[in-house]
Amino acid sequence: MQKQTREVNFGKRSSLKVHPVSIGAMRFPEKCDDAVALIRQAIDAGMIYIDTSRGYIDSELKLAKALKNGYREKVILSTKWCPWNIKVEPTDDTSADCTYKRIIESMKRLDVDYLDFYQLWSINNNEQWVETTSQGSMLHGILRAKKEGLVKHIGFTTHDTPENISKYIDHADWCEAILFTYNMLNRTYEDVIAKAHEKGIATIVMNPISGGVFAQDSPPLNVAVKNAIGRTDLVETAHRWLKSNKNIDTIICGISKPSDITSTLANYEKPDFTPEQIKKLNEEFEKLSNKNTGFCVDCKYCLPCPKNIYIPGFMQAAYFSEFLKIDSRSRNIYDWQLNKNNTARSADPSECIECGKCEQKCTQKIKIIETLKILKQKFG
Ligand code: SF4
Ligand code: SF4
Repeated sequence: MQKQTREVNFGKRSSLKVHPVSIGAMRFPEKCDDAVALIRQAIDAGMIYIDTSRGYIDSELKLAKALKNGYREKVILSTKWCPWNIKVEPTDDTSADCTYKRIIESMKRLDVDYLDFYQLWSINNNEQWVETTSQGSMLHGILRAKKEGLVKHIGFTTHDTPENISKYIDHADWCEAILFTYNMLNRTYEDVIAKAHEKGIATIVMNPISGGVFAQDSPPLNVAVKNAIGRTDLVETAHRWLKSNKNIDTIICGISKPSDITSTLANYEKPDFTPEQIKKLNEEFEKLSNKNTGFCVDCKYCLPCPKNIYIPGFMQAAYFSEFLKIDSRSRNIYDWQLNKNNTARSADPSECIECGKCEQKCTQKIKIIETLKILKQKFG
């Protein structure tokens, strides 16, 4: 595939350039040779920023092989770790020493002598922010590695509230990149992405097609796009909607087969939407939001549940299943609530004793008990 030379600034602070589409290293093909060929295909096509993690099983090991033969020098290599997503050793914690150890370990796994970026992974609330950035913490382990030339730039990834992230940006002079979730269905971070961009922090977007939702056949989503711009190609629309936002430097495209690369890059060669098209798309998708459709808005007023059922997670699954008619996404969300790797792991919906406490407090007046039963029947 021909290399696309289009480059954009990767935040003024880093002075780097990237392609607007980058490599998501979470789901490489199982066979190492296939993964190596795929990674090189993406790099040859211009996708030079690579987002991996110590927690993505053997991703770093496959990258180590792919980045031989001169490929290392072509890319901006980023990895990340935190002890609440993966404990490599039972004693792993948020100390500077442990983080420094994880950096060295990732470098060995990647077989490189420096990392372009190291990111604090999954800063999801203020307690985690304080714990990872205070004296002697993770950040100081990364700063030590930076001083030694092992790490060139530092960033963080987050699912925290926009208000908290905005405060972090005000104080994090060391931060050169932030990874956010952002797409047509989830515009939560729109303003804080703009703020980060304005401050010169590189802005990276994950979940550009809403975790695969836009690749599914969803009647309400199809109607929304048709009403807004007279067409129904959801994936292309989602990418062009993102590329029209100049506060975003690059998106993460998870690659597991060659067409992930070719189709995404083809979408990025198409024209931006006009401001009028963007306005219409935003209006149509706003109508589909949880708030406007009476589904869960994740306010968490229903918690705590006496049986430790994580109600907002299951109600989000119901939104995808009942409203958007995308059972595959709904099942993923359902399964994640019960997954042993989920630090906020929920009790099974069958534990519900129908006390009704949650329904009394629900701001959306959702029939939670009945919805849990429907979900259990469908996915349990
Ligand atoms: S009704 Fe069920 S889900 Fe709601 S608070 Fe009681 S036990 Fe929890
Ligand atoms: S109170 Fe209702 S809307 Fe809010 S998180 Fe709980 S289920 Fe969702």
